[in-house]
Amino acid sequence: MRARLAIRAGRGYVFIDKAPCSTGRLRRGAEWEGRGVQRDGPVFIGSEIYRGSSYGHWHPLRVPRVSTVMDLTRALGWLGPANYLASPRAKPGALSVWHAPDYVAALERVEATQLGTEEDRERFGLGTHSNPIYPEVYRRPATAAGGSLLAGELLVDGGVVYHPAGGTHHGLPGRANGFCYLNDPVLGILSLRRMGVRRIVYVDIDAHHPDGVELAFDGDPEILMISVHEERRWPFTGHLGDRAGGAAVNLPVPKGLNDSEMALVREALILPLVARFAPEAIVLQCGADAVEEDPLSRLTLSNNAHWEIVAALRPLAPRYLVLGGGGYNPWSVGRLWTGVWAVLNGIEIPDRLEPEGEAVLRALRWEGNSRGKAPPDHWFTTLRDAPRPGPVRDELKERLAVLLRREGLG
Ligand SMILES: [Zn+2]
Repeated sequence: MRARLAIRAGRGYVFIDKAPCSTGRLRRGAEWEGRGVQRDGPVFIGSEIYRGSSYGHWHPLRVPRVSTVMDLTRALGWLGPANYLASPRAKPGALSVWHAPDYVAALERVEATQLGTEEDRERFGLGTHSNPIYPEVYRRPATAAGGSLLAGELLVDGGVVYHPAGGTHHGLPGRANGFCYLNDPVLGILSLRRMGVRRIVYVDIDAHHPDGVELAFDGDPEILMISVHEERRWPFTGHLGDRAGGAAVNLPVPKGLNDSEMALVREALILPLVARFAPEAIVLQCGADAVEEDPLSRLTLSNNAHWEIVAALRPLAPRYLVLGGGGYNPWSVGRLWTGVWAVLNGIEIPDRLEPEGEAVLRALRWEGNSRGKAPPDHWFTTLRDAPRPGPVRDELKERLAVLLRREGLG
């Protein structure tokens, strides 16, 4: 049974389909009671809908991701009921703050019929290789969207929300794009806006450029979008000179990006830009596909690079929403995103996992990829990668210098 729930927002109500909520913190038809949650520390938004859900046996998103993070954080004793919220599912009306109603209706329909027409493919991008029709093709993205909408409401008085199922940054208003059907980062930012939060920084460290988010906030003077992404990689947007009407700073980086280079990007570019903007909220898209073991990028970071950015952004705004994103190696995603939760909670990451945690990682499978045949032992026994330092290349320094000069920081 799902309850229909109205969450009171700043200037209206967000109507959502709510899955049964184990914490009891949501009351049917009542306003959000989340203020006490914030005092308890960061909130983890998850859902059982991600468990066992697959885009298809050949698709990169056939692997478990969010369910691994839920299982591993619980197995390690880092996540209890007081800090966990089951994600509500966004209603079509809530999605329509950015998405086209006819597209949302098509998404609902293709889930019900499991069939897409020629028009669905041509007009809505549904039923393509990258955005196939699969059993939860509406409910899963609508749940991730509901999580980000809820996060915006939870953060009204400040705090930290972690929503690893979020981060679908390629979604377009009326079209599926790049494995994304809806755009929950956009909806999360709009939810913050509804709560009266105006100045927002969006930082994206996924290997791919957030074309959907950049489209949404092009020219918005109260948004700063910073993206670090691999050059000459799909969706081929986000060039060094692309500014989205002054709202974006884009840094395309060469293949082989190492931890030393990312540390320079963090210290010289990301942190000074965010600090100067003085945001009321930060949204971090923490995609896990820029690490060395990921099959869809040629960047070679260790997960330390991500965790250091997660930690460094925390003091720069009173509200902090951390989303997931890409990440197609089930071990590197599970380890990286579990470590994000540890960082947000100030939990020291152990050198070797307890047996309960190791068991979660040993149970993972990665069919159809050679790296899944004989995974190295540290994918089972640790969270932290060995650091991957390296030379800071001149081409990166030159691009940074261009941006810093342009932004008046050089
Ligand atoms: Zn990506």
